[in-house]
Amino acid sequence: MGASADTGTDSAGVDSAGVDSAGVDAAETDVVVVGGGQAGLAAGYFLRRAKARFVVLDDRAEPGGAWGDYWDSLRLFSPAAHSPLPGWWMPEEPGREFPSARHVTDYLAEYERRYELPVRRPVAVKEVRRAGDRLEADTTAGTWRARHVISATGTWCRPYTPDVPGRELFEGRQLHTVEYRHSEDFAGQRVVVVGGGNSAAQILAELSEVAHTTWLTRRPPRLMPDDVDGRVLFEVATRRALGTADGDVGSLGDIVMVPSVRRARDRGVLKAQPMAERLTRTGVAWADGSELAADAIVWCTGFRPVLDHLAPLEPFDADGRIPLDGARSLREPRLHLLGYGDWTGPASATLIGAGRAAKAAVARIAEDLGTGRSRNR
Ligand code: FAD
Repeated sequence: MGASADTGTDSAGVDSAGVDSAGVDAAETDVVVVGGGQAGLAAGYFLRRAKARFVVLDDRAEPGGAWGDYWDSLRLFSPAAHSPLPGWWMPEEPGREFPSARHVTDYLAEYERRYELPVRRPVAVKEVRRAGDRLEADTTAGTWRARHVISATGTWCRPYTPDVPGRELFEGRQLHTVEYRHSEDFAGQRVVVVGGGNSAAQILAELSEVAHTTWLTRRPPRLMPDDVDGRVLFEVATRRALGTADGDVGSLGDIVMVPSVRRARDRGVLKAQPMAERLTRTGVAWADGSELAADAIVWCTGFRPVLDHLAPLEPFDADGRIPLDGARSLREPRLHLLGYGDWTGPASATLIGAGRAAKAAVARIAEDLGTGRSRNR
């Protein structure tokens, strides 16, 4: 990856005794991090600084987490300089103000190397359970025992599609964001894009160049002004968390006018219609009896957190949520959750927000372990 820019302020001290490399593959460690995407790496950075023994277990063959699966034309909603993980700024991508997903994947791969993070892949964690005074991660590569577990498994592997009546009747193609790669497959077709967020807007924008598109949303989509990008939304998320946000200032779900979306608006195709009531054999239908024929429906309808591996710990409440104090589970204080959304820290699902949430979580773990920057091992 091209030229890098060190912050110069936040070295993880890779030459320190932060990780005992001989001990990393041992079954016993201080902290197991489940998931090696941006959230898991941010945790790794601070665990190294805290001189904890740890391992990051990731079920993919390659670095990058979900970024490796995003569609070809996806662009970040913030410039590189505003999308750093802790310690090392993301380099600019030549010729692009808003970097591509491929650029982020390269950045995360380089980040792992730079800080010599002990990521083991592909290793899938099947379940995390209690084992006396330890937690045990049962994996496809053996069992790790640890004093703390950080779960950072993201949401990408659990796509959500709403239960709209008639879904089984539709004879065209249905796919979720996770299956979409590029627009050429849909050339000349009638495509319905469902969803009011950034994924829907970006996919609609490029599909509309080759297909006849219709955009359906449950609520009118909120388009940010052209000069507002993810930086501002991150600041808003922070102010909200601090209780100092005033008025209708936008949120991380609002649509950022990256160049492709701007062009789609200027071509007049960025107009949403209310969500249909049901699907039919040939398309979609509304309550007033009107219908629209379609060849394909793209569900850009979001994700749910990947938490099945935590079931043996019974961390869930009656509503299926995990009650937290910061990132720490109230029902199992040795369990910490990072990166799933604002509920695990303001903007914690963004590159820039992942670091702040990880820093706070690791500080608590280090306190419990009795480790810290001054600890000699
Ligand atoms: P992931 O990247 O999903 O990483 C989790 C890792 O854990 C994966 O490798 C997964 O395979 C692995 N895993 C899962 N279960 C297990 C298991 N049981 N055992 C072992 N490993 C496991 N953010 C920004 O900051 N800027 C943007 O511009 C931006 N644009 C986005 C656009 C789209 C369309 C989407 C969907 C998201 C965007 N985001 C953006 C958000 C960001 O990409 C995600 O929030 C982020 O990738 C999540 O990182 P993560 O580390 O939490 O999860």
